Amino acid sequence: MTSTKNIIDGRGLGKSYGALTALAPLDLAVAPGEQVALAGPSGSGKTTLLYILAGLLPPDRGELFLDSQPVAQLQPGRELSEAAGLVQQQLDLVPQLPVVQNVLAGRLDQWGLLRSLASLFSARERDTALNALSRLGIADKIDERTSQLSGGEQQRVAIARLMVQAPKIVLADEPVSSLDPARAEEILKLLTGLADETGGALVASLHAPDLIREHFSRVIGLRQGVLQFDIPARELTPPVLEALYDLDRNSQS
Ligand code: ADP
Ligand code: MG
Repeated sequence: MTSTKNIIDGRGLGKSYGALTALAPLDLAVAPGEQVALAGPSGSGKTTLLYILAGLLPPDRGELFLDSQPVAQLQPGRELSEAAGLVQQQLDLVPQLPVVQNVLAGRLDQWGLLRSLASLFSARERDTALNALSRLGIADKIDERTSQLSGGEQQRVAIARLMVQAPKIVLADEPVSSLDPARAEEILKLLTGLADETGGALVASLHAPDLIREHFSRVIGLRQGVLQFDIPARELTPPVLEALYDLDRNSQS
């Protein structure tokens, strides 16, 4: 009769921009070990929800607990980055810096970041970056300027940064949208593996139903900021998906 403690516990989370409801108030509870996909057409609130869960965007209503702590009480750059980490859709790398510095940005506090910018990180810090890059098969790129890498390699750098950060809650915004199927599989395995290692959970936005059914335990459908369903991933059938993505459904009369 013991209940698992939720690693994400959001109650009535909502966000508006003026008259526009980016996210209508919703409840979201995620247990450790879950992989939750966020699906829905462009503008449905996926990025907004991920930013809220990452503690990067304060909701204007509701309460959010990450690993049982109120998100507002988690210290940015320290407790917050241990609790949750987001791979943004735009990756958020500094292109003119060497790969190693982008990877270490996942671990370093502000003082460390200054040292890193001056290339004064320790051998141990460099090893940490090298280890993550090796696991992603791009150890040889460690000293290259990030902008010299291909799009797929830059995506790995962003994931290496998250590995170094090692947050319990792994968040990813459309991590496979621009990838070929083989690489998409690989990236999703890496992200689920990362969440498993830290005993946490994965929440990622994506559109591909096959990938959702294969790599996720649960799928949440959003449409124009409103929760449409929260179901086991295996129940994401073509009719469910069509209803979610059919933008004209309500305007056809
Ligand atoms: P998705 O990621 O599903 O495409 P978003 O969460 O990015 O959706 O956006 C949801 C809605 O909120 C959209 O209508 C978008 O234009 C709006 N929105 C997002 N961020 C802002 C912002 N900073 N200012 C105004 N509107 C925004
Ligand atoms: Mg988005």
